[in-house]
Amino acid sequence: MNETQRREIKDHLLSGLSSLAEVEIDGDLAVENCPDEADFATQLTLQGVNMAMRHRRMTRIREYENAIKRLHETDFGICDECGDPIGLARLKASPSTRLCIACQCAAEEERSRCA
Ligand SMILES: [Zn+2]
Repeated sequence: MNETQRREIKDHLLSGLSSLAEVEIDGDLAVENCPDEADFATQLTLQGVNMAMRHRRMTRIREYENAIKRLHETDFGICDECGDPIGLARLKASPSTRLCIACQCAAEEERSRCA
């Protein structure tokens, strides 16, 4: 990976991080004071969705931050399995990936996701 590619990935990760930081997820929903059971169930469901969204966002933020930290390691963007460079588009879509598409497919072959 050359400097231009590193910079391109870094820009992508930084702008991804700032847009993740901007997403406002509604504050805690009050589950108390629900007049009936249906309302209570709805509130619980909403709270579950809310927590799942927060969790996904945190996971994504951590993934981006780790990728930024690893950006200057010599093996960043190099497949752990075969040592080939991982495509830029793939790194952008999934910055934490450590396998090239071919090795990822080979690893998932038993699940037949890459027919
Ligand atoms: Zn590979």
